[in-house]
Amino acid sequence: MGTVVNAANKEANRSLADLNPTVVFVLGGPGSGKGTQCANIVQHFGFTHLSAGDLLRAEIKSGSENGTMISNMIKEGKIVPSEVTIKLLQKAMLESGNDKFLIDGFPRNEENRSAFEAVTKVEPSFVLFFDCSEEEMERRLLSRNQGREDDNIETIRKRFKVFLESSLPVIEYYNSKGKVRKIDAGRPVEEVYESVKAIFAPKDEKIDAGRPVEEVFESVKANFALENEKAD
Ligand code: ADP
Ligand code: AMP
Repeated sequence: MGTVVNAANKEANRSLADLNPTVVFVLGGPGSGKGTQCANIVQHFGFTHLSAGDLLRAEIKSGSENGTMISNMIKEGKIVPSEVTIKLLQKAMLESGNDKFLIDGFPRNEENRSAFEAVTKVEPSFVLFFDCSEEEMERRLLSRNQGREDDNIETIRKRFKVFLESSLPVIEYYNSKGKVRKIDAGRPVEEVYESVKAIFAPKDEKIDAGRPVEEVFESVKANFALENEKAD
Protein backbone atom coordinates (compact mmCIF):
# COMPACT_ATOMS: atom_id res chain seq x y z
CA MET A 1 0.00 0.00 0.00
CA GLY A 2 2.76 2.43 1.06
CA THR A 3 4.59 1.64 -2.17
CA VAL A 4 1.51 2.44 -4.25
CA VAL A 5 1.06 5.78 -2.44
CA ASN A 6 4.76 6.62 -2.86
CA ALA A 7 4.59 5.81 -6.56
CA ALA A 8 1.53 8.07 -6.91
CA ASN A 9 3.37 10.91 -5.11
CA LYS A 10 6.42 10.53 -7.33
CA GLU A 11 4.17 10.68 -10.38
CA ALA A 12 2.50 13.86 -9.05
CA ASN A 13 5.91 15.47 -8.47
CA ARG A 14 7.06 14.58 -11.95
CA SER A 15 3.96 16.00 -13.64
CA LEU A 16 4.23 19.19 -11.59
CA ALA A 17 7.84 19.66 -12.63
CA ASP A 18 6.79 19.02 -16.27
CA LEU A 19 4.09 21.67 -15.93
CA ASN A 20 6.81 24.18 -14.94
CA PRO A 21 4.19 26.36 -13.26
CA THR A 22 4.45 30.04 -12.39
CA VAL A 23 4.03 30.22 -8.63
CA VAL A 24 3.60 33.32 -6.49
CA PHE A 25 3.56 32.79 -2.73
CA VAL A 26 1.17 35.20 -1.01
CA LEU A 27 2.21 35.75 2.58
CA GLY A 28 1.26 38.05 5.45
CA GLY A 29 -0.24 37.81 8.90
CA PRO A 30 -3.73 36.44 9.51
CA GLY A 31 -6.25 39.06 8.39
CA SER A 32 -3.73 41.05 6.33
CA GLY A 33 -6.06 40.70 3.30
CA LYS A 34 -4.41 37.88 1.34
CA GLY A 35 -7.66 36.18 0.31
CA THR A 36 -9.33 39.49 -0.56
CA GLN A 37 -6.53 40.60 -2.88
CA CYS A 38 -6.05 37.12 -4.40
CA ALA A 39 -9.68 37.24 -5.58
CA ASN A 40 -8.85 40.47 -7.47
CA ILE A 41 -5.67 39.03 -8.99
CA VAL A 42 -7.56 35.92 -10.19
CA GLN A 43 -10.13 38.09 -11.96
CA HIS A 44 -7.63 40.24 -13.81
CA PHE A 45 -4.52 38.15 -14.31
CA GLY A 46 -5.70 34.57 -14.90
CA PHE A 47 -4.11 32.96 -11.85
CA THR A 48 -5.65 30.12 -9.87
CA HIS A 49 -5.89 30.94 -6.16
CA LEU A 50 -4.96 28.16 -3.75
CA SER A 51 -5.36 29.00 -0.08
CA ALA A 52 -3.61 26.49 2.18
CA GLY A 53 -6.10 27.28 4.94
CA ASP A 54 -9.11 26.73 2.61
CA LEU A 55 -7.65 23.43 1.36
CA LEU A 56 -7.17 22.26 4.95
CA ARG A 57 -10.72 23.27 5.91
CA ALA A 58 -12.06 21.41 2.84
CA GLU A 59 -10.05 18.36 3.87
CA ILE A 60 -11.72 18.43 7.32
CA LYS A 61 -15.17 18.69 5.70
CA SER A 62 -14.44 15.79 3.33
CA GLY A 63 -14.24 13.43 6.32
CA SER A 64 -10.59 12.56 5.64
CA GLU A 65 -8.70 10.44 8.18
CA ASN A 66 -6.52 13.51 8.92
CA GLY A 67 -9.59 15.68 9.60
CA THR A 68 -9.52 15.57 13.39
CA MET A 69 -5.79 16.26 13.57
CA ILE A 70 -6.10 19.21 11.14
CA SER A 71 -9.12 20.59 12.98
CA ASN A 72 -7.32 20.48 16.34
CA MET A 73 -4.27 22.21 14.91
CA ILE A 74 -6.33 24.99 13.32
CA LYS A 75 -8.16 25.59 16.62
CA GLU A 76 -4.74 26.05 18.24
CA GLY A 77 -3.41 28.19 15.37
CA LYS A 78 -0.64 25.63 14.82
CA ILE A 79 1.09 24.74 11.58
CA VAL A 80 -0.22 21.49 10.08
CA PRO A 81 2.57 19.05 9.00
CA SER A 82 3.88 20.02 5.58
CA GLU A 83 3.38 16.59 4.02
CA VAL A 84 -0.38 17.07 4.42
CA THR A 85 -0.41 20.62 3.03
CA ILE A 86 1.99 19.90 0.17
CA LYS A 87 -0.06 16.91 -1.00
CA LEU A 88 -3.22 19.05 -1.02
CA LEU A 89 -1.45 21.82 -2.95
CA GLN A 90 0.02 19.39 -5.51
CA LYS A 91 -3.34 17.78 -6.12
CA ALA A 92 -5.11 21.12 -6.51
CA MET A 93 -2.45 22.40 -8.90
CA LEU A 94 -2.61 19.32 -11.11
CA GLU A 95 -6.41 19.32 -11.17
CA SER A 96 -6.74 23.04 -11.94
CA GLY A 97 -5.86 22.87 -15.64
CA ASN A 98 -3.90 26.11 -15.13
CA ASP A 99 -0.17 26.76 -14.85
CA LYS A 100 -0.26 30.05 -12.89
CA PHE A 101 -0.86 29.87 -9.15
CA LEU A 102 -1.22 32.16 -6.19
CA ILE A 103 -0.36 30.02 -3.19
CA ASP A 104 -1.83 31.86 -0.22
CA GLY A 105 -0.74 31.14 3.36
CA PHE A 106 2.06 28.80 2.39
CA PRO A 107 4.96 28.28 3.16
CA ARG A 108 4.34 29.14 6.80
CA ASN A 109 7.65 28.00 8.20
CA GLU A 110 11.14 27.09 7.08
CA GLU A 111 10.31 23.39 6.94
CA ASN A 112 7.26 24.07 4.69
CA ARG A 113 9.48 26.08 2.37
CA SER A 114 12.33 23.62 2.00
CA ALA A 115 9.99 20.60 1.76
CA PHE A 116 7.92 22.22 -1.00
CA GLU A 117 10.97 23.08 -3.06
CA ALA A 118 12.56 19.65 -2.50
CA VAL A 119 9.39 17.69 -3.28
CA THR A 120 7.98 19.68 -6.20
CA LYS A 121 11.22 21.20 -7.61
CA VAL A 122 9.19 24.39 -8.04
CA GLU A 123 10.53 27.78 -6.95
CA PRO A 124 8.30 30.83 -6.63
CA SER A 125 8.65 33.66 -9.15
CA PHE A 126 8.27 36.03 -6.22
CA VAL A 127 6.61 36.46 -2.83
CA LEU A 128 3.81 38.96 -2.38
CA PHE A 129 4.03 40.12 1.23
CA PHE A 130 1.08 41.91 2.82
CA ASP A 131 2.49 44.01 5.62
CA CYS A 132 -0.11 45.05 8.19
CA SER A 133 -0.13 45.99 11.88
CA GLU A 134 -1.42 43.46 14.42
CA GLU A 135 -3.92 46.01 15.66
CA GLU A 136 -5.51 46.31 12.19
CA MET A 137 -5.38 42.55 11.54
CA GLU A 138 -7.06 41.86 14.88
CA ARG A 139 -9.83 44.34 14.07
CA ARG A 140 -10.43 42.70 10.68
CA LEU A 141 -10.42 39.13 11.99
CA LEU A 142 -12.85 39.93 14.78
CA SER A 143 -15.31 41.34 12.24
CA ARG A 144 -14.71 38.76 9.46
CA ASN A 145 -17.96 36.94 10.33
CA GLN A 146 -17.30 33.77 8.36
CA GLY A 147 -17.98 31.54 11.34
CA ARG A 148 -14.35 30.45 11.56
CA GLU A 149 -13.45 28.66 14.77
CA ASP A 150 -10.03 30.33 14.84
CA ASP A 151 -11.31 33.92 14.56
CA ASN A 152 -11.56 34.36 18.34
CA ILE A 153 -9.20 36.56 20.32
CA GLU A 154 -7.43 33.67 22.06
CA THR A 155 -6.59 31.81 18.83
CA ILE A 156 -5.85 35.05 16.98
CA ARG A 157 -3.09 35.89 19.51
CA LYS A 158 -1.61 32.40 19.02
CA ARG A 159 -1.71 32.83 15.23
CA PHE A 160 0.12 36.19 15.51
CA LYS A 161 2.82 34.51 17.59
CA VAL A 162 3.23 31.67 15.07
CA PHE A 163 3.39 34.24 12.24
CA LEU A 164 6.15 36.24 13.97
CA GLU A 165 8.19 33.25 15.07
CA SER A 166 7.80 30.86 12.12
CA SER A 167 6.47 32.66 9.04
CA LEU A 168 8.41 35.95 9.09
CA PRO A 169 11.74 34.07 8.77
CA VAL A 170 10.45 32.57 5.48
CA ILE A 171 9.75 36.09 4.20
CA GLU A 172 13.24 37.15 5.34
CA TYR A 173 14.74 34.18 3.49
CA TYR A 174 13.08 35.18 0.21
CA ASN A 175 13.93 38.83 0.86
CA SER A 176 17.60 37.89 0.99
CA LYS A 177 17.11 36.42 -2.50
CA GLY A 178 15.49 39.64 -3.77
CA LYS A 179 12.14 37.89 -4.24
CA VAL A 180 9.85 39.82 -1.88
CA ARG A 181 7.36 42.41 -3.16
CA LYS A 182 6.13 44.16 -0.02
CA ILE A 183 2.73 45.85 0.03
CA ASP A 184 1.44 48.26 2.69
CA ALA A 185 -1.72 46.28 3.45
CA GLY A 186 -3.08 48.57 6.16
CA ARG A 187 -4.84 50.78 3.61
CA PRO A 188 -8.37 50.43 2.13
CA VAL A 189 -8.91 47.42 -0.20
CA GLU A 190 -8.90 49.48 -3.43
CA GLU A 191 -5.66 51.26 -2.54
CA VAL A 192 -3.95 48.00 -1.67
CA TYR A 193 -5.09 46.57 -4.99
CA GLU A 194 -3.57 49.50 -6.91
CA SER A 195 -0.16 48.49 -5.49
CA VAL A 196 -0.83 44.80 -6.20
CA LYS A 197 -1.82 45.53 -9.80
CA ALA A 198 1.38 47.43 -10.42
CA ILE A 199 3.32 44.28 -9.57
CA PHE A 200 1.34 41.94 -11.83
CA ALA A 201 0.58 44.19 -14.79
CA PRO A 202 3.02 44.27 -17.69
CA LYS A 203 4.49 47.72 -17.30
CA ASP A 204 3.72 48.62 -20.92
CA GLU A 205 6.48 51.16 -21.06
CA LYS A 206 7.67 52.87 -24.18
CA ILE A 207 11.02 51.38 -25.11
CA ASP A 208 13.85 53.44 -26.48
CA ALA A 209 14.89 51.18 -29.35
CA GLY A 210 17.74 53.37 -30.54
CA ARG A 211 20.20 51.76 -28.11
CA PRO A 212 22.43 48.65 -28.43
CA VAL A 213 20.46 45.42 -28.74
CA GLU A 214 21.41 44.19 -25.21
CA GLU A 215 20.18 47.42 -23.62
CA VAL A 216 16.91 47.30 -25.54
CA PHE A 217 16.44 43.69 -24.44
CA GLU A 218 16.99 44.66 -20.78
CA SER A 219 14.02 47.05 -21.09
CA VAL A 220 11.91 44.45 -22.89
CA LYS A 221 12.69 41.92 -20.14
CA ALA A 222 11.75 44.38 -17.41
CA ASN A 223 8.31 44.69 -19.03
CA PHE A 224 7.78 40.95 -18.74
CA ALA A 225 9.30 40.51 -15.30
CA LEU A 226 6.96 37.72 -14.27
CA GLU A 227 7.59 35.51 -17.30
CA ASN A 228 11.23 36.34 -17.07
CA GLU A 229 11.56 35.14 -13.47
CA LYS A 230 9.82 31.89 -14.37
CA ALA A 231 12.46 31.10 -16.91
CA ASP A 232 15.36 31.65 -14.47
P1 ADP B 1 -6.39 36.81 5.10
O1 ADP B 1 -6.71 35.98 3.88
O2 ADP B 1 -5.05 37.46 5.00
O3 ADP B 1 -6.58 36.09 6.40
P2 ADP B 1 -8.85 38.22 4.40
O4 ADP B 1 -8.65 38.60 2.96
O5 ADP B 1 -9.76 37.10 4.70
O6 ADP B 1 -7.41 38.03 5.12
O7 ADP B 1 -9.32 39.55 5.16
C1 ADP B 1 -9.70 39.50 6.52
C2 ADP B 1 -10.92 40.40 6.74
O8 ADP B 1 -10.55 41.76 6.54
C3 ADP B 1 -12.07 40.12 5.78
O9 ADP B 1 -13.29 40.30 6.47
C4 ADP B 1 -11.91 41.18 4.68
O10 ADP B 1 -13.14 41.54 4.11
C5 ADP B 1 -11.29 42.34 5.45
N1 ADP B 1 -10.30 43.10 4.67
C6 ADP B 1 -9.42 42.62 3.77
N2 ADP B 1 -8.64 43.59 3.28
C7 ADP B 1 -9.03 44.73 3.91
C8 ADP B 1 -8.61 46.11 3.85
N3 ADP B 1 -7.61 46.50 3.04
N4 ADP B 1 -9.21 47.00 4.65
C9 ADP B 1 -10.20 46.62 5.48
N5 ADP B 1 -10.67 45.34 5.57
C10 ADP B 1 -10.09 44.42 4.81
P1 AMP C 1 -5.58 30.82 7.15
O1 AMP C 1 -6.85 30.41 6.46
O2 AMP C 1 -4.46 31.07 6.17
O3 AMP C 1 -5.76 31.96 8.10
O4 AMP C 1 -5.11 29.56 8.00
C1 AMP C 1 -5.87 29.09 9.11
C2 AMP C 1 -5.12 28.00 9.86
O5 AMP C 1 -4.89 26.87 8.99
C3 AMP C 1 -3.73 28.39 10.36
O6 AMP C 1 -3.78 29.10 11.58
C4 AMP C 1 -3.08 27.00 10.50
O7 AMP C 1 -3.53 26.33 11.65
C5 AMP C 1 -3.64 26.26 9.29
N1 AMP C 1 -2.79 26.47 8.12
C6 AMP C 1 -3.02 27.32 7.11
N2 AMP C 1 -2.03 27.26 6.20
C7 AMP C 1 -1.14 26.37 6.65
C8 AMP C 1 0.10 25.88 6.17
N3 AMP C 1 0.65 26.36 5.08
N4 AMP C 1 0.74 24.96 6.89
C9 AMP C 1 0.19 24.55 7.99
N5 AMP C 1 -0.95 24.95 8.53
C10 AMP C 1 -1.63 25.87 7.87
